[in-house]
Amino acid sequence: MAGSVEATPPARADKPDLPRIGVLAVQGDFEAHRRALERLGAGAVEVRGPADFDGLDGLVIPGGESTTIEEGVAAYGLEQPIRELARSGRPVLGTCAGLIMLDRAHLGLMDIDARRNAFGRQVHSFEQDVAVRGLGDEPLRAVFIRAPWIERAGDGVEILAEVDGHPVVARERNMLVAAFHPELTDDLRLHALFLALGAGQDIGAHGRSSGA
Ligand code: GLN
Repeated sequence: MAGSVEATPPARADKPDLPRIGVLAVQGDFEAHRRALERLGAGAVEVRGPADFDGLDGLVIPGGESTTIEEGVAAYGLEQPIRELARSGRPVLGTCAGLIMLDRAHLGLMDIDARRNAFGRQVHSFEQDVAVRGLGDEPLRAVFIRAPWIERAGDGVEILAEVDGHPVVARERNMLVAAFHPELTDDLRLHALFLALGAGQDIGAHGRSSGA
């Protein structure tokens, strides 16, 4: 009998180094973010309650309807866990409504003021190639859906991309925001940049690629 009953694999011990990224799943476009993260080899978990924050290495706040997300965050007691995660230095990615959630009028974690539906009431959605500092020479195809822009940004905020002179991608320390929906295209560079923030990588937005 010796050795014959020991074939049970050690459950979940196979990928110990996989970053475990939470995707806020209160409302909005969380499924597509989960798939994008998984395609990059990260572990993605949907976050709906405070207990879901245990052991997370980062957080994505997806697009959707910022008023609804704000209400859900309050109702489920998620404000404190989000603040703790962001302040611990773990990476946070906010896209579209997620950008709005991180601004001074909402969670106040970034020194930015978002302007909701900034591209005009009738312009519900559009696509545009956007050059993003730190992502190489190739522009990113960006899908804007009733998108905000950043109306004001403090000194500690690096503007990484603009459309018509309005900031649409920015970083402050461990927090990265985009006004568009990077989860809706096959280009995963913005998610990769977010994961790199967790690896402590400086994305080098100063100097080298600043010519425009
Ligand atoms: N217009 C939405 C808001 O203000 C954001 C749109 C989006 O996330 N696609 O909440």
